[in-house]
Amino acid sequence: MIPFIDLHAQRQRLGQPLEDAILKVVRSGAYVMGPEIGQLEAALRDFGQAPHALTCGSGTEALVLPLMAWEIGPGDAVFCPSFTFAATAEVMPLVGASPVFVDVLPDTYNIDPAKLEAAIHAVKAAGELTPRAIIAVDLFGQPADYPALAAIAAKHGLKLIADSAQGFGCTLDGHHPLHWADVTTTSFFPAKPLGCYGDGGAVLCKDARLYDLLVSLRVHGQAVASDLEGRTFDHDPKYLNMRVGMNARMDTIQAAVLLQKLAIFPDEIEARGRVAARYAEGLGDVVGVPRVIAGGVSVWAQYTIQTDDRDGLAAHLRSQEIPTAVYYPVPLHRQGPYADYPQPGGLPATEAAAERVIALPMHAYLQPDVQDRIISAIRNFVKRNG
Ligand SMILES: *Cc1c(COP(=O)(O)O)cnc(C)c1O
Repeated sequence: MIPFIDLHAQRQRLGQPLEDAILKVVRSGAYVMGPEIGQLEAALRDFGQAPHALTCGSGTEALVLPLMAWEIGPGDAVFCPSFTFAATAEVMPLVGASPVFVDVLPDTYNIDPAKLEAAIHAVKAAGELTPRAIIAVDLFGQPADYPALAAIAAKHGLKLIADSAQGFGCTLDGHHPLHWADVTTTSFFPAKPLGCYGDGGAVLCKDARLYDLLVSLRVHGQAVASDLEGRTFDHDPKYLNMRVGMNARMDTIQAAVLLQKLAIFPDEIEARGRVAARYAEGLGDVVGVPRVIAGGVSVWAQYTIQTDDRDGLAAHLRSQEIPTAVYYPVPLHRQGPYADYPQPGGLPATEAAAERVIALPMHAYLQPDVQDRIISAIRNFVKRNG
């Protein structure tokens, strides 16, 4: 099998400095909140045009922390797509709130602003839940329609989260999603465009008070500088707990890995773009190739095509040692834990996409000759099957 994502090629490129960086942490003994954590947070601020960046233990924690900071809970509605990874919707029940599923645009797979607006009106009219926030997902690597989403969020007084676990590094008209969103979250799971060697995540935000709360929530609600203003505490403020938080820290070793990887990430984003362009050119006339929003730059977490006979194509490619994957065969609103949450207006575009999508090998190190083999295998299959 050729690799679906080639982390080995990337490791070869990173070479000895990567291994040295890991060993340095091992030898330092600063396994939790070591100096690499602060260095990575500074690098993420730079990279992401963000006033504040906070590392955490996963992309799921990155989503739950701002919901906790805003005290979103029972009786509250958070709007999100159903055509996404489970974590996007999972964090609402985790804090006691309700996800409200909104359909996606059929061409970009990202949340449909018109359907979102209709869903907000429907929830308000039903009167059972209080709309509090929107989680837009940069699915498969491309930015959601943030100018439209931010206008809707402002109009209805809602917080806007960009779940950029797949899209970290994507831009729209030269801006990262945080330009419009209150918060951007990402995941550094190894298979994401920017991944570490285990689990990791980050929250980027603009508001200093929110950042303070996130810092506190990351470590069991411990007192932060703003909590201590005007009061005296004779002990280590580490043991002054102001709110219910949790342990959501990133391991220092993962920060050391990410510092190395972030340095080559802009170059990798360009390489991913070249791979995507070659697929589009080679396949655009035989299958449905992805469309990117005008002004958008995708980081191509996945290269997802659409075809009538997805299972047949997958089997044909597998026989030629070419792996594929389906993201996502069953949308969240069709799955047990999420089936009873509101889905005003239905989700026809989501259901249609779930039947037809299939993702091809995509990474920055996909060589043109290997890619051409994938392209001709797909063309042959389509030709043979009419
Ligand atoms: C991967 C992913 C997450 C969760 O990230 P973890 O680090 O695995 O917790 C959240 N949202 C989306 C869209 C994802 O793809």
